[in-house]
Amino acid sequence: MAKFEGYKDIYVFVEQKNGEIANVGYELISEARKLVASIPHMNFKVAGVILGNNIKAKAQDIIAHGADKVIVVEHPLLEEYSTQFYTDALTEVITTYKPDSFLTGATVLGRDLAPRVAARLNAGLTADATKIEMDPEKKDEALLLVTRPTFGGNLFGTIICPDTRPQMATIRPNVFSMDPADNSRSGEVEEFTPTFQDTDAKVVVKKVIEKAVEGIDITKADILVGAGRGAEDCLDMVKAVAEELGGEMCASRAVIDDGLADKAIQVGQTGKTVRPSLYIACGISGACQHVAGMEKSDMIIAINRDPQAEIFSIANMGFVGDVKEVLPLLKEEIIAAKK
Ligand SMILES: Cc1cc2nc3c(=O)[nH]c(=O)nc-3n(C[C@H](O)[C@H](O)[C@H](O)COP(=O)(O)OP(=O)(O)OC[C@H]3O[C@@H](n4cnc5c(N)ncnc54)[C@H](O)[C@@H]3O)c2cc1C
Repeated sequence: MAKFEGYKDIYVFVEQKNGEIANVGYELISEARKLVASIPHMNFKVAGVILGNNIKAKAQDIIAHGADKVIVVEHPLLEEYSTQFYTDALTEVITTYKPDSFLTGATVLGRDLAPRVAARLNAGLTADATKIEMDPEKKDEALLLVTRPTFGGNLFGTIICPDTRPQMATIRPNVFSMDPADNSRSGEVEEFTPTFQDTDAKVVVKKVIEKAVEGIDITKADILVGAGRGAEDCLDMVKAVAEELGGEMCASRAVIDDGLADKAIQVGQTGKTVRPSLYIACGISGACQHVAGMEKSDMIIAINRDPQAEIFSIANMGFVGDVKEVLPLLKEEIIAAKK
């Protein structure tokens, strides 16, 4: 008899707000496809789970992004996010379908929801993961090796949940790449109606005030020019280079802590994870906490006056020099190249 009788497949929570699906759901489905492909003998499928009200039409998008099956959980109580009702509904979905693994984005919502569901199910949860693999030695169990930064980002720990199912994990947005949608894909759509034991809301949200979006969303930028403490004297120039390239400026935590930029543009372990096609690191040392947020960029160019700076070890191209001298030259070159 199999160790975890009845548990099968990898399920992904597909987060939506007002019918708009957060990319992290698609990123996790793309990664789940790779995981199931690495254990073909288990015949695992990838399923997306979407909760909300009047959201059934989204199921085909989820299939186009790689799901074999979509569980649509619609209910008026799920119209807006509610910790109580989402936890109730998702716990019921997992108890019913018995997924072997359940992945959730480490978004504000995902970080609220996943641990509560895990606690109800007595399942193991690895939070804030940056890497997921199948244990090559335990393929008949589909044991996940889930890696996350630990001890302030100085170490990476790999966590396994060998004794309970599902194996749960939250993963930050932008850690995995998203496969392009294939609208010719087909899959199963199942509707699931939760049977709430208690429909009295314990917490009533009276008013939701959307935080005004200040500036840009660096996670969506294709080109980023990062300012570190070494570029604090020339942030205008960093911004100007970013603008010439049609990109955005971001910063290391040192620049945020020094009060020179908004936390919204911080890259790294306690900031945002980005994966642009080009990242130019200006006066950034390359501390592991910063690198954790940008190392998946397609092309990394580093400018630093210290030839031993750690950033050069992950850069595709490096300039040893003073950013105050290099950046104006770079800007001129970009302008000349555009003519
Ligand atoms: C729990 C924890 C979480 C953290 N999270 C984050 C995070 O999310 N993001 C993050 O960025 N950091 C984070 N940090 C901080 C991180 O450890 C580093 O302290 C920080 O990244 C350093 O920023 P920096 O490289 O800009 O500054 P510094 O380390 O001061 O480096 C400045 C660099 O600029 C170079 N330089 C100086 N002057 C010039 C010049 N004129 N021209 C060219 N080069 C020059 C120097 O050679 C040096 O390499 C975290 C730390 C902890 C403990």
